[in-house]
Amino acid sequence: MNVSSEKVDLKNLSPGELQKFLVSFGKERYRSTQILRWLYQKGVESFEEMTNLSKKFRKELSQISYLSTLSPLYIEQARDGTKKFLFQLEDGNRIESVLIPDKTRLTLCLSTQVGCAFGCRFCLTGKMGWKRDLSTSEILNQILAVRKTLPEKRAITNIVLMGMGEPLANFENTLRAIELMHHPDAFKFSSRRVTLSTVGLLPELERLAKEHIAFRLAISLNASDEKTRSQLMPINRRYPLKMILEWCQNFPLKPRDRITFEYVMLDGKNDSAEDAKRLLKILKGIPSKVNLIPLNEAPEIPFKRPSEEKVRQFQEILMKGGLTAIIRASKGQEISAACGQLQGKPPP
Ligand code: SAH
Ligand code: SF4
Repeated sequence: MNVSSEKVDLKNLSPGELQKFLVSFGKERYRSTQILRWLYQKGVESFEEMTNLSKKFRKELSQISYLSTLSPLYIEQARDGTKKFLFQLEDGNRIESVLIPDKTRLTLCLSTQVGCAFGCRFCLTGKMGWKRDLSTSEILNQILAVRKTLPEKRAITNIVLMGMGEPLANFENTLRAIELMHHPDAFKFSSRRVTLSTVGLLPELERLAKEHIAFRLAISLNASDEKTRSQLMPINRRYPLKMILEWCQNFPLKPRDRITFEYVMLDGKNDSAEDAKRLLKILKGIPSKVNLIPLNEAPEIPFKRPSEEKVRQFQEILMKGGLTAIIRASKGQEISAACGQLQGKPPP
């Protein structure tokens, strides 16, 4: 799309910012409600379709703003129904989103950055390095583009920010996108249906504690001791496990809410009975749930997935100790759509 650089992409504005923008050129405040509904509920892609706005207003809008869109370059479908969408951004960079059907749910996994700076040793996105952050509109357009491909009666029920990138390293844009995911005039997802997954960037976690946090938080733990975590996730040297757990202990969760801890299982590295017992110990007192993710292997990754038996034993120790532990079935592996496999590459 060829757009003049001074024009504002309306999908980069929060509801409050959109209202200010409209008021600043003499429009009524309620206009923002109308526009939000067109953009996110109806999913229109041009001002002409906003038929409850006068022709004059639509023309004015198109002179100062524009509507960005995304369309998939490729859609791949795995046998289990998981679909991977590859998108090309305006600057040629590529990102991926993954749509995961489950019995009653249809979960969309979104990217928040092109690549990732944190270089976790088991993750292919990490191997790419960080290219750039996504704008708010690039995050939201993934939802709109995927939704457009669905039959009318099929709705996305859950959003997880677990695709390419570290959402808290792109704090402002991600939080603005989450605000729009929840907003009654935009996507209307309840706070329980949006999950943000992070390696645990402490300064950003501190900021979250101060702001109104309206999503489920998942923290990628992946180890139960400092040494192993530092080996697997270099960021642990800066923000160690101990400090993350302290933050979790102090975070005022709403009643019934829990923090999800993700634990990628690596054969012979973090999957022993001692690891499970230590995990129980360090999570004591934190309302938590553990997602065990058996490693999705790749030639570039120097680890193996443990046997099913080993994973089940690990789960059992956690459950016996009173922790809810779920083994996250790996979806979409044969199309490289599973956790940690996203690299923004087209199919071979
Ligand atoms: N950067 C964020 C969100 C994206 S990664 C984070 O790390 O939390 C989403 C999840 O995929 C993380 O829990 C991560 O530990 C997991 N993951 C990464 N590589 C994986 C792999 N090869 N196999 C299984 N899970 C992986
Ligand atoms: Fe980045 Fe998350 Fe992959 Fe680590 S696991 S490299 S933080 S995307």
